Amino acid sequence: MGMSDGSTARAVAEERDRLDPLAGYRERFYLTPGIIYMDGNSLGLLSRDAEQALQEATEQWKRSGIQGWSIGERPWGAYFSIIGALMADMVGAAHDEVVATASLTVNLHTLVGSLYRPSGKRRKILANTLEFPTDIYALQGQIALRGGDPARDLVRVESGDGRSLDEDDIIAALTDEVALAVLPSVLYRSGQLLDMARLTAVARERGVIIGWDCAHSIGAIPHRLDDWGADFAVWCGYKYLNGGPGSLAGLYVNRRHFGRTPGLPGWSGVPFDIRFEMRHEFVAAPDASAWQISTPPVLSAAPLLGSCSIIAEAGLERLRTRSLALTDYLIELLEGRGLLAAPYEYEIGTPREHHRRGGHIAVEHRQASRIVGALARRGVIADFRAPNVIRLAPVALYSSFADVWDVVEHLAQVVENGEHLGG
Ligand SMILES: *Cc1c(COP(=O)(O)O)cnc(C)c1O
Repeated sequence: MGMSDGSTARAVAEERDRLDPLAGYRERFYLTPGIIYMDGNSLGLLSRDAEQALQEATEQWKRSGIQGWSIGERPWGAYFSIIGALMADMVGAAHDEVVATASLTVNLHTLVGSLYRPSGKRRKILANTLEFPTDIYALQGQIALRGGDPARDLVRVESGDGRSLDEDDIIAALTDEVALAVLPSVLYRSGQLLDMARLTAVARERGVIIGWDCAHSIGAIPHRLDDWGADFAVWCGYKYLNGGPGSLAGLYVNRRHFGRTPGLPGWSGVPFDIRFEMRHEFVAAPDASAWQISTPPVLSAAPLLGSCSIIAEAGLERLRTRSLALTDYLIELLEGRGLLAAPYEYEIGTPREHHRRGGHIAVEHRQASRIVGALARRGVIADFRAPNVIRLAPVALYSSFADVWDVVEHLAQVVENGEHLGG
């Protein structure tokens, strides 16, 4: 055991949990006794609310077959507008600008497919060198589909330190050759939160279509996409939204783009009242639902009815405040326990300022991969992102201050016992 003084004692964490008005939400989730879950930024945990909504959907299938779409207390057909409205509130959009549909990568394809219109010398798409690979693949694919050359037309803003992006560098790269930019709200590795309001405003001023990948901010951070004037955004449902593995995702499209033909049109994008006329001419729905493609997956949507309702009930502002308190505490303990110096040599790769930080902390170490393995053997679920990042996400809905305290203790002991060394 490491040393502890008054402020780093576990009793301090326990006291904070006792006094926390949001601590009760933990009971709505399935946590495994003996396991500390710090990976809710990759896959959020199952809540009783989500489980119940899923059971309701399968019961409906059992009892009603195809009529499940239209009859019963909550027909399947009604799921998507309910979930879409909950998501719209989380991203600060009107309800008709958001649709709960498909998956993040597919949504990125269909939106870039409609809004990327290279012309004249404005042909480039702006991304960044720290971006999650699937976004890059989608953008390269969309450029190639338009007959462009991804090696020339995809521009990636570089990072100065390999962890974060400088907003001024992004702004400098928003030139008159850029047609469209896709940026992450929160960088998946370091957890840096970009200044979405400022970057959106500059992109708009310069005539660049701007889309946000909100995978690591939806359900964790309040957004004001409409006020900022973003063109589009995409996110998934299984991280902070706790919708379950591979659950339904969502997209936002600003109403100024309503009526455009989706990049990947499908019959679910046709207004419902004429969809079953089965015409061969695509008619886009007059709102964001035009970007739906297929028959929506009821069973991978149902959990979101429960899990997004919990977020609405707790309140995103309050969750954000609690999330910052948890990550502040994590940083404070790493410092206070001396883990940022020899012999531990952990580093914090996430910006310290609240307005530049998402929901997780990137703890860096040369032996990060081995440390994540050692943590797993100790019952701590974290994840490793090459080359040197241990991502720790104390999730506002279900992680406790005591969890954070215990994780730091494990990080100390792993090094004290040499569990991070090869062998
Ligand atoms: C998680 C994540 C994805 C995942 O995409 P899927 O299509 O859901 O597999 C994409 N982009 C970012 C930035 C992510 O964090």
